[in-house]
Amino acid sequence: MPKARILVADDDKAVLNMCVRTLERAGHEVTGVESGPEALSCARARSFDLFITDLRMPQMTGLEACRAMHDLNPHVGMIIMTAFGSMESAIEALEIGVSQFVLKPFRPGKLLAAVERALAKRQREWENARLRTLVPLLDLSRAFMHSTDLASIPKCVVRIAKEETQASSASVMLLDGDVLTIHAAEGLPPDVVAETRQKADEGIAGYAIVHREPLVLEGDLKHDARFQPQEGSKRIETAVSLPLIHKNEILGVLNVSKMGKGSTFTKANVEFLSILASQAAAAIDNARLFREIQDAYERLEELDHLKSEFISIASHELRAPLTVLLAYATLLGTQAPGSMREHLDQVVGSAMQLKSVIDEMISLQRIDTGQTQMNLTHVDIKSALNHAVDELKPLAKSKEQIISVGSIPQATVRADEQMLDLILRNLVSNAIKFTPEEGTISLSAESREQEIIVTLRDTGVGIPQEKLGRIFERFYQAEKALRREHGGIGLGLAIAREMAELMDGRIWAESEVGKGSTFYLSLPREQ
Ligand code: ADP
Repeated sequence: MPKARILVADDDKAVLNMCVRTLERAGHEVTGVESGPEALSCARARSFDLFITDLRMPQMTGLEACRAMHDLNPHVGMIIMTAFGSMESAIEALEIGVSQFVLKPFRPGKLLAAVERALAKRQREWENARLRTLVPLLDLSRAFMHSTDLASIPKCVVRIAKEETQASSASVMLLDGDVLTIHAAEGLPPDVVAETRQKADEGIAGYAIVHREPLVLEGDLKHDARFQPQEGSKRIETAVSLPLIHKNEILGVLNVSKMGKGSTFTKANVEFLSILASQAAAAIDNARLFREIQDAYERLEELDHLKSEFISIASHELRAPLTVLLAYATLLGTQAPGSMREHLDQVVGSAMQLKSVIDEMISLQRIDTGQTQMNLTHVDIKSALNHAVDELKPLAKSKEQIISVGSIPQATVRADEQMLDLILRNLVSNAIKFTPEEGTISLSAESREQEIIVTLRDTGVGIPQEKLGRIFERFYQAEKALRREHGGIGLGLAIAREMAELMDGRIWAESEVGKGSTFYLSLPREQ
């Protein structure tokens, strides 16, 4: 049993001395007095864990002393010592909170046993009270953790604050600029809730905000300059206002009040409300953050939608006139004489470049809308590689690059022929584009049990490590757009990856700046 502070009152000096000695020997800190009024003045000066009193004393009876003691400190444990036959007041004593009786005359052991029981009961009550406070807080923090709804948090806080402190009213006011408005309330007239608009430094709420600490007001609030009673709150006897602070920012206040004479908030009430206010502030801040992220996400989605819409319209609107332009330019090229043919070849070349950009945009849009038509067949990997390389050889030649197809196993992949051709051409044309003149580009393939891996190595500019992970993103280009010397809009690799994945394949890259890049394409092997 831990050491306790015990106050003993008995007008019989012999009994009093015996009690004090017994308890002191058991290690307690004991104060002995000979009357009820003396006991009360001691209890006013310092708090005790236990009060042991004789029942019959002149001036003030033990029962009266117990009642006053309980009013002073509701948590004090109480024991009554009484002679046999004077137990008529036992029920009343129990109601006041007396937990043990010791029948006189008694041996020291009996007193010690009663003290032990009273202290254990007090400890249990104290733990229960704490648990009762903790359980709603725990439930609340769990609810808050999952709450992203800004409107429901103040409501929940108000309900719990009012219930747990048996208050008459509670409200949460939130700051908007420097104006406080009520976001949730219980026990206040609806018009007060709807119409209250208060400057952030006015009233008790303003006081709590300015001083950044809970304000507890008791007594006649009408005469307190900091508090102007609102309609419906005239009989308020005591009020608490707690600032809602999170990460040093004031979000608003929690106001709780009680009406009627003598109603007060205990220290435990204020402690509970302080924890509630800090949890509420964190939850409100979280919910606001969540809403901001959601708004930003919605804006992004909207922008993304607009961008897709733009790509879709632009690509389709450009395609038709471009096809006509290409057809006529090609036709004229075949018929035009000498230098004019050269000019027309340039027109066709530029129009082809434009067409490849438009084709990329259309492919992407088809992937997005699920309109990509796929025809999976057995494709011979060797001929697929040769086809892509043959088509782009003239381009490599114009840069005096060496492009070669190395050892290729005799194997087939399960793929859409056109898609595979598009992926390979994208990879090879990138290799040509990002490799300086006289560089080397080599292709090879390796057959594994389930897959065939195509490897494309170049001796080009390379890609910085930190950008390597992003080159397959749409519109991502490793070099800054304005400093680019190469054509393209950053869609080729994104399309290649999405198409590879549509065919159950994978695509990835390794690179070293200044040394070159290696791109890998894996596709399911046809057995
Ligand atoms: P685009 O070629 O139109 O810019 P891609 O999607 O094909 O778009 O490629 C994205 C980016 O990846 C390129 O802008 C370039 O920065 C980088 N890249 C692609 N292939 C290579 C390569 N072989 N060598 C160096 N950088 C490359």
